[in-house]
Amino acid sequence: MSAAQPETCDACLRRAFLVAALAPRIAGLLERPRARVAGLLALSESDLLAAVAGSHAARLVEDLDRRDFAGERVRLANAAVHAAARAG
Ligand SMILES: [Zn+2]
Repeated sequence: MSAAQPETCDACLRRAFLVAALAPRIAGLLERPRARVAGLLALSESDLLAAVAGSHAARLVEDLDRRDFAGERVRLANAAVHAAARAG
């Protein structure tokens, strides 16, 4: 381990959690040949939710709004340190 990694901003963390929450649905779309998956990840949060989340969109936004990104940042940093220690 050398220099500290740059901190991920709240917007990037929020996006990461959004995509993680939608991943099973996006994977489901990938199995449907006619689904338009290309470009999904380039959509804004609201467009992506409209395209993929269906009736779960409101709950997902609530989850994201409630999430403690400062706490998540610490948790993820600790996880990375432990992963690096195991790998070493
Ligand atoms: Zn960012």
